[in-house]
Amino acid sequence: MDVSTKGIVLTATDYKENDKLISLYSLEYGKITVHAKGIRKGNAKLKFAADQFCFGQYELSKLDDFFTLKTCDQLESFYALREDVMTYYSACTVAECLSNYTEEGQSEPNIFIETLKAFSSLTDGVEPLLVTLRYLLEFLRIQGLELQFDSCVSCGSKPSKYFLDLQRGGIVCDLCRAADSLPISLRAVAACKMVDSMPYDKLKNLNFTLEVLKDSLHVVYRYISHGFSPLKSLNELLRL
Ligand SMILES: [Zn+2]
Repeated sequence: MDVSTKGIVLTATDYKENDKLISLYSLEYGKITVHAKGIRKGNAKLKFAADQFCFGQYELSKLDDFFTLKTCDQLESFYALREDVMTYYSACTVAECLSNYTEEGQSEPNIFIETLKAFSSLTDGVEPLLVTLRYLLEFLRIQGLELQFDSCVSCGSKPSKYFLDLQRGGIVCDLCRAADSLPISLRAVAACKMVDSMPYDKLKNLNFTLEVLKDSLHVVYRYISHGFSPLKSLNELLRL
């Protein structure tokens, strides 16, 4: 059966002599693996369709859960995401989220749209740490793992010293914190609250220091790493 879907390339790996297996995040089918035959030959016209972060309209043939590339109409190359190291690791963090934490074959249009918005913001030159923070907070919300920053998730008080409770996914006060709760600065909490749900086109008006953004992302990193496999790209991004 022939099918058509919008998709974003997460990764592509060499396969057989001239082929690639593309991990594609698609609008209609969620994360899928696409067999691109002959795409590594010198004269292959569809080489671009396996480039990391390529966004295109993919025409595929589908047999059960196996997809084979027929053709692709590129909608946006997002090439700029590969030109700057911070931007690159930010885009890789987004791609790794989709690779690690979404189910194969499950369409989640909200996540697809968020991903396109994040890539567009990065291409427009918005601070990569800010875009990453915005994306991860929304990604967690869509997955039902929203972080709570308003008041202590245990007793409801407005604490003077903040900690992040890794089990409960929110801030806690000094009295309610567990042994493994992480201290989190007031400025990082304020940044997370402000960035959370803010439209992407408004992000460029925010002016946080890199230190505050890294503190905020570190907390999100620890929270995600507590429940899932750690995001290697985010770890790299925080070390830059
Ligand atoms: Zn409390």
